[in-house]
Parts: sequence; C-alpha cells; structure tokens
Amino acid sequence: MPPLSIMIKPASSLCNMRCKYCFYHDVTDYRDIKSFGFMSNDTARNIIKKALAFANGESISFAFQGGEPTLCGVDFFKTFCATVKELNHKNSTIYYGLQTNGTLIDNEWARFFKANNFLIGLSLDGDFNNNSFRIDEKGNNSYYKITKAAETLAKNNVDFNILTVLTGKCADNIDEILAFFKKKGFKYLQFIPCLRPFGDNSESELYMTPEQYTNFLIHGFNFYVKEYVRDNYTSIRYFDNLVHLYLGNPTEQCGMCGHCMHQFVAEGNGNIYPCDFYCTDEWLLGNINEDNENFDTLAHCDKAIEFLRESLKIDEKCKKCRLYPLCRGGGCKRSREDRDYCESYKAFFKACLPLFRVFINEKK
Ligand code: SF4
Ligand code: SF4
Repeated sequence: MPPLSIMIKPASSLCNMRCKYCFYHDVTDYRDIKSFGFMSNDTARNIIKKALAFANGESISFAFQGGEPTLCGVDFFKTFCATVKELNHKNSTIYYGLQTNGTLIDNEWARFFKANNFLIGLSLDGDFNNNSFRIDEKGNNSYYKITKAAETLAKNNVDFNILTVLTGKCADNIDEILAFFKKKGFKYLQFIPCLRPFGDNSESELYMTPEQYTNFLIHGFNFYVKEYVRDNYTSIRYFDNLVHLYLGNPTEQCGMCGHCMHQFVAEGNGNIYPCDFYCTDEWLLGNINEDNENFDTLAHCDKAIEFLRESLKIDEKCKKCRLYPLCRGGGCKRSREDRDYCESYKAFFKACLPLFRVFINEKK
C-alpha cells in the first residue's frame, strides 16, 4: 500500500442502483446528512494540495468510491487528474483506482481510465442468477450492463478486478461462480463479506451462516490452489493475503494484520473519516477544507488514535489460538462486529492448511 492512501467519494452516497445489501446506504443512516452531494473542484483541489504536501514526494493512492463515483461525470475526473499534474512538484508517484457498478461505463470512460492508468474495481456477483441482488431503481438485474462494461474495459485495455459481495447465496454457489468467472477470463477477484446493518442480527439469504462461509473458504481455496498449480494463477485477494502471511510477508489488505490501519475517506463535502465502514458522525475526524486541517492533523487527532486503539483489542480466545498468525482473530473489525466466524476459520484451516505448502517455492 502506498504511504498515503485516500478513498474519495465524489458523489457521496448518491447511486443509480438499489443493491439489496448496500452497506453505505446503512452507514449514512448514522449521519445527520445522508448525502453531501457532488464534490466541488475546489474541495478536490484542497484534497490534492494537502495530500501532496503530506506525501512530500512519496507515492499516493487516490481510490474513488461511492455511492457511484461515475455519477460525477468524466469531466470531474479529468479536472482532478489535471490538478494533480499541475501541483505534483515533488513528482509523487500517483496510483488511481475507481470502484464502479459499471452501468455508466462507455468508451469515453474507458479511454480516460486507460490514459490515466486507473485500476478499476467492477462489481459483479456472478452470472445472471447470482447477480440478482444488484438491481436498479425498477428492480432490474444489472447483469447485462455490467458484463458490457467489462467488455468495454477489456477492449480498451483497462486493468480491472471483479468485486463480488459474499452473500449466503454466493457462498452456496461458489463453485458455479468461480467457473463462470474463469470462463469469462476474469483473473483478479475479490470477495467482500456481506455485512448486516449496524446492530442487526437478522438472518436472510444475504448474510452467510458460519457453514456457508466455511463452504466458500474451502471451495474457494481449493479452486485457487488448483489454478495455481496448473500455472493458471487467479488472484483472489483474501487468499493472496493469507499466502503472504503464511510465507511471513506483510499483507496489503486492511484488517488482515489483525487491526485497523490508518485510512482517510474523503466525503463529497471534504469531511474525512477513518474508514469506509465508519463514515458516521461519531467518527468524523475533520474537514479538509478547513485552513487548520491537513492530513497530518487528521491522522493524529484524538478520534483517529481512538479508532486505531479500539481495534487493537484481541479476543481472549484468539490470544491462545495457534491459528492467530494466519486468522488474525477474524480480520477486519467491522466484519468481527457483524458476526463471529471463528468456527468457519477453524474448519477451513483444518481442511486446507496442508495445501498452503504448495506456495513455499514462491519464497525462493
Ligand atoms: S474496520 Fe476493517 S476496513 Fe475499516 S480500518 Fe478497520 S480493519 Fe480496516
Ligand atoms: S480461529 Fe477463532 S480463536 Fe483462532 S484466531 Fe481465528 S477467530 Fe480467533
């Protein structure tokens, strides 16, 4: 991860889709103001100016998310990139990323992404049947728009990952979904466990039971290992990071080191929060448009420190567990708050730990 990583929500929580599991829809219920609207060029300029000053020549990652960031229009992003070029006097290396539902992607967007070396995260839960939770305002499955976006990105040589929300249904159908992605030639995959709203303990086909999560872990890892030994490596981010840990290397995924990492999430009005899952009034660190705020003051304010400190607590059962070096107590704090999947991790490692040996040659 670059020394400074900033997630930017240029369209705040605004979105043209109504996915049934949208966590940001829930997060923003914990704010007096649900949507801060579109980001102005002035706010974007302040973020860029202060980010470059903080990085002081080191690299920066700007990752755009939403809501749906493409609702801002391509001109917002063109101005953003031009401003970075104008102000980057110390030649920081800049990494751009953007996570999208894909519905607005056309050749103009794809050409822009290619020209500016964006890495795109495209949300797709599998084939038409498995994509059934990603619906628009009228309840229509967005599958055809997303696969068309994937074709447009591929045609324009834009690098992209597939982001899949790991629901109970997805975990049940993981073999079918992985076979579908393989057939499509998608080789960079990320599965994101579906979270219940804060404080909600309800059960539904959206939220995985421990058995369903075990099924995903065992079947998913077996696929991952098989493709690797067949010389057809397919990246699955969680397993990539587990392999890094197994080989004694650092992980890049937040939470997999067992605690939260310093993050900055910039909302449409310049508000800064410590994590995408906690863009709530309770965890507001400050606003980047204030003269006395910069990324140094925001990183060291009491709330930012409290946020990191809270995540350092290790569960008593994990302190004594021999799997802790890999499992890290179940990873991300927000996921742990949602549900305890300890039994899934134990079952997974019991079944799959020997398979990790195939990666040992990687170290040489
Ligand atoms: S809650 Fe999860 S994603 Fe957020 S900072 Fe903590 S570990 Fe990272
Ligand atoms: S397997 Fe369970 S006890 Fe062990 S580290 Fe993971 S969550 Fe903790």
